[in-house]
Amino acid sequence: MRLSDRLKFFKKSKIVESLKVLEQDPSIISLGAGEPDFPAPPNVIAAAQKALKKGFTHYSPTQGKLELREAIAEKLRKENKIDASADEIIVTCGSKEALLIAMLTLINPGDEVIVQDPGYNFAYMPMVRMLDGIVHSLQLREEDSFSVHPGMLRKLITEKTKLFILNSPSNPTGGVVSKKDLEEIADVVVEKGITVLSDEAYEKLVYDDVKHVSLASLNGMKEYVITTQSFSKSFAMCGFRIGYAVAKREIIEKMNRFKLTTTICAPTAFQIAAVEALKHAGDHTEKMRREYDRRRKMIVRRLNELPGIRCSKPKGAFYAFPNITGLGMSSEEVADFLLEKAKVLTIPGTEFGRYGEGYLRLSYATSYEKIEEAMNRIESAIDKL
Ligand code: PLP
Repeated sequence: MRLSDRLKFFKKSKIVESLKVLEQDPSIISLGAGEPDFPAPPNVIAAAQKALKKGFTHYSPTQGKLELREAIAEKLRKENKIDASADEIIVTCGSKEALLIAMLTLINPGDEVIVQDPGYNFAYMPMVRMLDGIVHSLQLREEDSFSVHPGMLRKLITEKTKLFILNSPSNPTGGVVSKKDLEEIADVVVEKGITVLSDEAYEKLVYDDVKHVSLASLNGMKEYVITTQSFSKSFAMCGFRIGYAVAKREIIEKMNRFKLTTTICAPTAFQIAAVEALKHAGDHTEKMRREYDRRRKMIVRRLNELPGIRCSKPKGAFYAFPNITGLGMSSEEVADFLLEKAKVLTIPGTEFGRYGEGYLRLSYATSYEKIEEAMNRIESAIDKL
Protein backbone atom coordinates (compact mmCIF):
# COMPACT_ATOMS: atom_id res chain seq x y z
CA MET A 1 0.00 0.00 0.00
CA ARG A 2 1.13 3.54 -0.70
CA LEU A 3 0.38 5.66 2.34
CA SER A 4 -0.57 9.31 2.71
CA ASP A 5 2.00 12.08 3.27
CA ARG A 6 -0.23 13.29 6.08
CA LEU A 7 1.18 10.56 8.32
CA LYS A 8 4.25 12.71 8.94
CA PHE A 9 2.13 14.93 11.19
CA PHE A 10 1.51 12.07 13.60
CA LYS A 11 4.81 11.59 15.38
CA LYS A 12 5.63 8.48 17.40
CA SER A 13 4.38 9.29 20.85
CA LYS A 14 6.45 8.71 23.96
CA ILE A 15 3.16 8.16 25.78
CA VAL A 16 2.21 5.21 23.61
CA GLU A 17 5.69 3.69 24.12
CA SER A 18 5.44 4.15 27.89
CA LEU A 19 2.02 2.55 28.03
CA LYS A 20 3.51 -0.55 26.40
CA VAL A 21 6.21 -0.72 29.09
CA LEU A 22 3.47 -0.39 31.69
CA GLU A 23 1.74 -3.50 30.37
CA GLN A 24 4.97 -5.49 30.55
CA ASP A 25 5.88 -4.46 34.11
CA PRO A 26 3.02 -4.31 36.64
CA SER A 27 5.34 -2.96 39.36
CA ILE A 28 5.43 0.43 37.57
CA ILE A 29 3.22 3.15 39.07
CA SER A 30 1.71 5.28 36.33
CA LEU A 31 1.37 9.02 36.82
CA GLY A 32 0.66 9.22 33.11
CA ALA A 33 -3.14 8.93 33.16
CA GLY A 34 -5.16 11.45 31.19
CA GLU A 35 -8.51 10.30 32.54
CA PRO A 36 -10.27 10.10 35.91
CA ASP A 37 -9.50 6.99 37.99
CA PHE A 38 -13.07 7.13 39.35
CA PRO A 39 -15.93 5.07 37.89
CA ALA A 40 -18.85 6.83 36.21
CA PRO A 41 -21.72 7.77 38.58
CA PRO A 42 -23.90 4.69 39.37
CA ASN A 43 -27.14 6.46 38.35
CA VAL A 44 -25.57 7.30 34.97
CA ILE A 45 -24.56 3.68 34.43
CA ALA A 46 -28.10 2.60 35.37
CA ALA A 47 -29.59 5.14 32.93
CA ALA A 48 -27.38 3.78 30.12
CA GLN A 49 -28.41 0.19 30.89
CA LYS A 50 -32.06 1.15 30.99
CA ALA A 51 -31.82 3.01 27.69
CA LEU A 52 -30.19 0.01 25.99
CA LYS A 53 -32.86 -2.34 27.36
CA LYS A 54 -35.59 0.02 26.16
CA GLY A 55 -34.24 -0.31 22.63
CA PHE A 56 -32.19 2.87 22.18
CA THR A 57 -29.84 0.91 19.96
CA HIS A 58 -30.39 2.98 16.79
CA TYR A 59 -28.86 6.14 15.36
CA SER A 60 -29.94 9.42 16.92
CA PRO A 61 -30.30 12.69 14.96
CA THR A 62 -26.83 13.73 13.75
CA GLN A 63 -26.81 16.89 15.82
CA GLY A 64 -27.72 14.92 18.96
CA LYS A 65 -30.94 14.11 20.80
CA LEU A 66 -33.05 17.19 21.43
CA GLU A 67 -33.57 16.17 25.06
CA LEU A 68 -29.79 16.26 25.63
CA ARG A 69 -29.24 19.49 23.70
CA GLU A 70 -31.94 21.15 25.78
CA ALA A 71 -30.35 19.91 29.01
CA ILE A 72 -26.96 21.20 27.78
CA ALA A 73 -28.49 24.59 26.91
CA GLU A 74 -29.82 24.86 30.45
CA LYS A 75 -26.44 23.85 31.91
CA LEU A 76 -24.65 26.42 29.73
CA ARG A 77 -27.04 29.15 30.86
CA LYS A 78 -26.76 28.30 34.55
CA GLU A 79 -23.15 27.26 34.91
CA ASN A 80 -21.31 29.04 32.10
CA LYS A 81 -23.51 32.09 31.53
CA ILE A 82 -23.59 31.20 27.84
CA ASP A 83 -26.96 31.89 26.30
CA ALA A 84 -27.52 29.25 23.61
CA SER A 85 -30.54 27.44 22.20
CA ALA A 86 -30.64 23.72 21.35
CA ASP A 87 -29.92 24.55 17.65
CA GLU A 88 -26.67 26.17 18.68
CA ILE A 89 -25.35 22.93 20.18
CA ILE A 90 -23.98 19.80 18.51
CA VAL A 91 -23.39 16.58 20.45
CA THR A 92 -20.22 14.74 19.44
CA CYS A 93 -18.20 11.57 20.17
CA GLY A 94 -16.20 13.17 22.96
CA SER A 95 -15.10 16.78 22.74
CA LYS A 96 -12.19 15.56 20.60
CA GLU A 97 -14.59 15.12 17.69
CA ALA A 98 -16.06 18.56 18.38
CA LEU A 99 -12.54 20.02 18.08
CA LEU A 100 -11.92 18.20 14.82
CA ILE A 101 -15.19 19.15 13.11
CA ALA A 102 -14.77 22.74 14.29
CA MET A 103 -11.35 22.82 12.62
CA LEU A 104 -12.73 21.17 9.46
CA THR A 105 -15.31 23.96 9.37
CA LEU A 106 -12.80 26.78 9.86
CA ILE A 107 -9.35 25.99 8.48
CA ASN A 108 -8.23 26.55 4.88
CA PRO A 109 -4.77 25.61 3.58
CA GLY A 110 -2.25 28.25 4.68
CA ASP A 111 -4.39 29.58 7.55
CA GLU A 112 -2.42 30.21 10.71
CA VAL A 113 -3.58 28.74 14.00
CA ILE A 114 -2.18 29.74 17.39
CA VAL A 115 -1.93 27.02 20.06
CA GLN A 116 -0.79 27.14 23.66
CA ASP A 117 2.63 25.57 24.17
CA PRO A 118 2.98 23.52 26.32
CA GLY A 119 -0.52 22.43 25.40
CA TYR A 120 -2.67 19.53 24.31
CA ASN A 121 -0.61 19.41 21.18
CA PHE A 122 -0.52 15.77 20.28
CA ALA A 123 -4.14 16.53 19.36
CA TYR A 124 -4.23 20.19 18.23
CA MET A 125 -1.05 20.26 16.15
CA PRO A 126 -1.69 17.20 13.95
CA MET A 127 -5.32 18.26 13.49
CA VAL A 128 -4.29 21.69 12.21
CA ARG A 129 -1.49 20.32 10.05
CA MET A 130 -3.54 17.61 8.41
CA LEU A 131 -5.84 20.40 7.22
CA ASP A 132 -2.76 22.16 5.77
CA GLY A 133 -2.96 24.87 8.40
CA ILE A 134 0.17 26.40 9.93
CA VAL A 135 0.73 26.13 13.68
CA HIS A 136 2.21 28.94 15.78
CA SER A 137 3.11 28.33 19.42
CA LEU A 138 2.07 30.74 22.13
CA GLN A 139 4.37 30.05 25.05
CA LEU A 140 2.77 29.50 28.45
CA ARG A 141 5.27 30.64 31.05
CA GLU A 142 5.75 29.45 34.59
CA GLU A 143 6.14 33.08 35.74
CA ASP A 144 2.63 33.81 34.38
CA SER A 145 1.27 30.74 36.27
CA PHE A 146 0.93 29.15 32.82
CA SER A 147 -1.86 31.55 31.90
CA VAL A 148 -2.25 33.02 28.42
CA HIS A 149 -0.49 36.37 28.14
CA PRO A 150 -2.81 38.62 26.06
CA GLY A 151 0.11 40.78 24.85
CA MET A 152 1.97 37.71 23.58
CA LEU A 153 -1.17 36.57 21.78
CA ARG A 154 -1.51 39.95 20.08
CA LYS A 155 2.11 39.79 18.85
CA LEU A 156 1.61 36.39 17.21
CA ILE A 157 -1.44 37.41 15.17
CA THR A 158 -0.81 38.13 11.47
CA GLU A 159 -3.06 38.76 8.47
CA LYS A 160 -3.23 35.00 8.02
CA THR A 161 -4.27 34.09 11.57
CA LYS A 162 -7.64 32.38 11.51
CA LEU A 163 -7.90 30.74 14.89
CA PHE A 164 -6.62 30.65 18.46
CA ILE A 165 -7.15 27.45 20.43
CA LEU A 166 -7.65 28.36 24.08
CA ASN A 167 -7.53 25.62 26.71
CA SER A 168 -8.36 26.65 30.26
CA PRO A 169 -8.02 24.82 32.64
CA SER A 170 -5.06 23.56 30.70
CA ASN A 171 -3.63 20.16 29.96
CA PRO A 172 -0.70 19.71 30.81
CA THR A 173 0.07 22.75 32.98
CA GLY A 174 -3.08 23.04 35.13
CA GLY A 175 -3.06 26.78 34.35
CA VAL A 176 -6.37 28.65 34.45
CA VAL A 177 -6.90 31.95 32.62
CA SER A 178 -8.47 34.60 34.89
CA LYS A 179 -11.53 36.63 33.92
CA LYS A 180 -9.36 39.72 33.64
CA ASP A 181 -6.99 38.03 31.18
CA LEU A 182 -9.97 36.62 29.26
CA GLU A 183 -11.33 40.16 28.92
CA GLU A 184 -8.03 41.32 27.47
CA ILE A 185 -7.93 38.28 25.17
CA ALA A 186 -11.48 39.15 24.06
CA ASP A 187 -10.34 42.68 23.16
CA VAL A 188 -7.48 41.29 21.04
CA VAL A 189 -9.80 38.77 19.34
CA VAL A 190 -12.39 41.42 18.42
CA GLU A 191 -9.78 43.92 17.25
CA LYS A 192 -8.05 41.36 15.03
CA GLY A 193 -11.23 39.56 13.94
CA ILE A 194 -10.02 36.03 14.64
CA THR A 195 -12.01 33.03 15.94
CA VAL A 196 -11.36 31.21 19.20
CA LEU A 197 -11.88 27.51 19.79
CA SER A 198 -12.28 27.31 23.56
CA ASP A 199 -11.55 23.78 24.81
CA GLU A 200 -13.15 23.58 28.25
CA ALA A 201 -12.81 19.83 28.89
CA TYR A 202 -11.57 20.47 32.46
CA GLU A 203 -14.04 23.26 33.33
CA LYS A 204 -15.25 21.54 36.53
CA LEU A 205 -11.79 20.87 37.93
CA VAL A 206 -10.61 24.12 39.52
CA TYR A 207 -9.19 24.58 43.03
CA ASP A 208 -8.83 27.11 45.86
CA ASP A 209 -10.82 30.22 45.01
CA VAL A 210 -10.32 29.89 41.27
CA LYS A 211 -13.37 30.17 39.03
CA HIS A 212 -13.67 28.85 35.51
CA VAL A 213 -15.01 31.50 33.14
CA SER A 214 -16.12 30.67 29.60
CA LEU A 215 -14.81 33.14 27.04
CA ALA A 216 -18.12 32.93 25.16
CA SER A 217 -19.94 34.32 28.21
CA LEU A 218 -18.21 37.71 27.89
CA ASN A 219 -20.12 40.49 26.25
CA GLY A 220 -20.40 40.03 22.48
CA MET A 221 -18.00 37.07 22.35
CA LYS A 222 -20.51 34.49 21.12
CA GLU A 223 -19.84 35.87 17.64
CA TYR A 224 -16.19 34.87 17.87
CA VAL A 225 -16.08 31.67 19.91
CA ILE A 226 -16.76 27.97 19.43
CA THR A 227 -16.81 26.37 22.89
CA THR A 228 -16.24 22.64 23.40
CA GLN A 229 -17.05 20.82 26.62
CA SER A 230 -17.17 17.18 27.66
CA PHE A 231 -18.67 14.60 29.99
CA SER A 232 -15.33 12.76 30.16
CA LYS A 233 -13.55 14.59 32.96
CA SER A 234 -16.52 16.25 34.68
CA PHE A 235 -18.40 12.99 35.23
CA ALA A 236 -15.67 10.33 34.72
CA MET A 237 -17.43 9.25 31.53
CA CYS A 238 -14.47 9.03 29.10
CA GLY A 239 -15.62 5.72 27.62
CA PHE A 240 -19.15 7.00 26.96
CA ARG A 241 -17.63 9.33 24.33
CA ILE A 242 -20.02 12.23 24.77
CA GLY A 243 -18.93 15.82 24.26
CA TYR A 244 -20.37 18.85 22.47
CA ALA A 245 -19.74 22.18 20.85
CA VAL A 246 -21.70 25.41 21.19
CA ALA A 247 -21.49 28.25 18.69
CA LYS A 248 -23.64 30.42 16.41
CA ARG A 249 -26.38 28.47 14.61
CA GLU A 250 -24.72 28.92 11.15
CA ILE A 251 -21.48 27.38 12.41
CA ILE A 252 -23.20 24.44 14.13
CA GLU A 253 -25.15 23.79 10.94
CA LYS A 254 -21.85 23.54 9.00
CA MET A 255 -20.24 21.36 11.65
CA ASN A 256 -23.25 19.07 11.41
CA ARG A 257 -22.38 18.35 7.76
CA PHE A 258 -18.95 17.02 8.74
CA LYS A 259 -20.52 15.05 11.58
CA LEU A 260 -22.89 13.31 9.18
CA THR A 261 -20.06 12.25 6.90
CA THR A 262 -17.89 10.91 9.73
CA THR A 263 -19.49 9.33 12.81
CA ILE A 264 -23.20 10.07 12.01
CA CYS A 265 -24.11 10.56 15.65
CA ALA A 266 -22.83 10.13 19.20
CA PRO A 267 -23.85 6.83 20.92
CA THR A 268 -27.63 7.13 21.41
CA ALA A 269 -28.05 5.33 24.76
CA PHE A 270 -25.12 7.25 26.20
CA GLN A 271 -26.70 10.54 25.17
CA ILE A 272 -29.62 9.55 27.39
CA ALA A 273 -27.17 8.70 30.20
CA ALA A 274 -25.58 12.13 29.69
CA VAL A 275 -28.94 13.80 30.44
CA GLU A 276 -28.98 11.91 33.75
CA ALA A 277 -25.42 13.10 34.44
CA LEU A 278 -26.34 16.74 33.89
CA LYS A 279 -29.45 16.53 36.03
CA HIS A 280 -28.41 14.23 38.87
CA ALA A 281 -24.65 13.74 39.13
CA GLY A 282 -23.32 17.09 40.32
CA ASP A 283 -22.41 15.54 43.71
CA HIS A 284 -20.21 12.97 42.00
CA THR A 285 -18.28 15.74 40.24
CA GLU A 286 -17.77 17.62 43.49
CA LYS A 287 -16.61 14.49 45.34
CA MET A 288 -14.01 13.80 42.66
CA ARG A 289 -12.89 17.42 42.63
CA ARG A 290 -12.31 17.38 46.40
CA GLU A 291 -10.27 14.19 46.20
CA TYR A 292 -8.16 15.59 43.32
CA ASP A 293 -7.58 18.67 45.44
CA ARG A 294 -6.31 16.56 48.37
CA ARG A 295 -3.92 14.72 46.04
CA ARG A 296 -2.86 17.96 44.36
CA LYS A 297 -1.77 19.49 47.67
CA MET A 298 0.22 16.39 48.59
CA ILE A 299 1.96 15.90 45.23
CA VAL A 300 2.93 19.57 44.96
CA ARG A 301 4.33 19.57 48.51
CA ARG A 302 6.30 16.37 47.90
CA LEU A 303 7.68 17.65 44.59
CA ASN A 304 8.85 20.89 46.17
CA GLU A 305 10.73 18.94 48.85
CA LEU A 306 12.93 17.34 46.17
CA PRO A 307 16.31 18.88 45.28
CA GLY A 308 16.44 20.24 41.71
CA ILE A 309 12.65 20.36 41.32
CA ARG A 310 10.16 23.18 41.86
CA CYS A 311 6.45 22.99 41.25
CA SER A 312 3.93 25.80 41.29
CA LYS A 313 0.43 24.90 42.46
CA PRO A 314 -1.76 24.04 39.47
CA LYS A 315 -5.11 25.86 39.62
CA GLY A 316 -7.07 23.35 37.56
CA ALA A 317 -7.26 19.97 35.75
CA PHE A 318 -5.49 16.99 37.39
CA TYR A 319 -1.85 17.46 36.46
CA ALA A 320 1.24 18.73 38.27
CA PHE A 321 3.80 20.29 35.92
CA PRO A 322 7.07 20.63 37.83
CA ASN A 323 10.19 22.39 36.56
CA ILE A 324 12.98 19.80 36.57
CA THR A 325 15.81 21.87 35.08
CA GLY A 326 17.68 21.73 38.41
CA LEU A 327 18.34 18.02 37.84
CA GLY A 328 20.62 18.85 34.89
CA MET A 329 18.86 16.50 32.47
CA SER A 330 16.36 17.00 29.66
CA SER A 331 12.66 16.24 30.22
CA GLU A 332 12.94 13.01 28.31
CA GLU A 333 16.03 11.95 30.23
CA VAL A 334 14.31 12.59 33.56
CA ALA A 335 11.20 10.66 32.47
CA ASP A 336 13.40 7.75 31.32
CA PHE A 337 15.42 7.89 34.53
CA LEU A 338 12.28 7.80 36.71
CA LEU A 339 10.83 4.94 34.72
CA GLU A 340 14.01 2.89 35.01
CA LYS A 341 15.19 3.71 38.54
CA ALA A 342 11.95 4.57 40.38
CA LYS A 343 9.55 2.54 38.26
CA VAL A 344 7.28 5.58 38.00
CA LEU A 345 5.81 6.62 34.69
CA THR A 346 5.68 10.36 33.99
CA ILE A 347 5.30 12.25 30.72
CA PRO A 348 8.11 14.53 29.45
CA GLY A 349 6.95 18.12 28.93
CA THR A 350 8.23 18.04 25.34
CA GLU A 351 5.29 15.77 24.42
CA PHE A 352 3.20 18.95 24.72
CA GLY A 353 5.31 21.24 22.54
CA ARG A 354 8.84 22.61 22.46
CA TYR A 355 8.24 24.98 25.39
CA GLY A 356 7.54 21.91 27.52
CA GLU A 357 11.31 21.29 27.73
CA GLY A 358 12.40 21.50 31.37
CA TYR A 359 9.10 20.15 32.71
CA LEU A 360 7.36 16.84 33.43
CA ARG A 361 3.65 16.08 33.59
CA LEU A 362 2.52 14.04 36.59
CA SER A 363 -1.14 13.10 36.66
CA TYR A 364 -2.88 12.89 40.02
CA ALA A 365 -5.82 11.02 38.55
CA THR A 366 -4.66 7.98 40.49
CA SER A 367 -5.15 6.99 44.14
CA TYR A 368 -3.63 9.02 46.98
CA GLU A 369 -1.75 5.93 48.22
CA LYS A 370 -0.24 5.22 44.81
CA ILE A 371 0.86 8.83 44.42
CA GLU A 372 2.49 8.68 47.89
CA GLU A 373 4.32 5.48 46.97
CA ALA A 374 5.39 6.98 43.61
CA MET A 375 6.75 10.06 45.40
CA ASN A 376 8.68 7.87 47.89
CA ARG A 377 10.27 6.04 44.99
CA ILE A 378 11.07 9.26 43.11
CA GLU A 379 12.64 10.70 46.27
CA SER A 380 14.97 7.74 46.77
CA ALA A 381 15.93 7.63 43.08
CA ILE A 382 16.82 11.34 43.09
CA ASP A 383 18.73 10.98 46.38
CA LYS A 384 21.07 8.54 44.65
CA LEU A 385 21.81 10.90 41.76
N1 PLP B 1 -9.23 18.51 25.50
C1 PLP B 1 -8.26 18.28 26.38
C2 PLP B 1 -7.43 19.41 26.84
C3 PLP B 1 -8.01 16.97 26.85
O1 PLP B 1 -7.02 16.75 27.72
C4 PLP B 1 -8.80 15.91 26.36
C5 PLP B 1 -8.55 14.52 26.77
O2 PLP B 1 -7.63 14.19 27.45
C6 PLP B 1 -9.81 16.21 25.43
C7 PLP B 1 -10.00 17.52 25.02
C8 PLP B 1 -10.67 15.15 24.81
O3 PLP B 1 -11.60 14.65 25.70
P1 PLP B 1 -12.92 13.88 25.22
O4 PLP B 1 -12.82 13.64 23.76
O5 PLP B 1 -12.93 12.61 26.00
O6 PLP B 1 -14.04 14.80 25.55
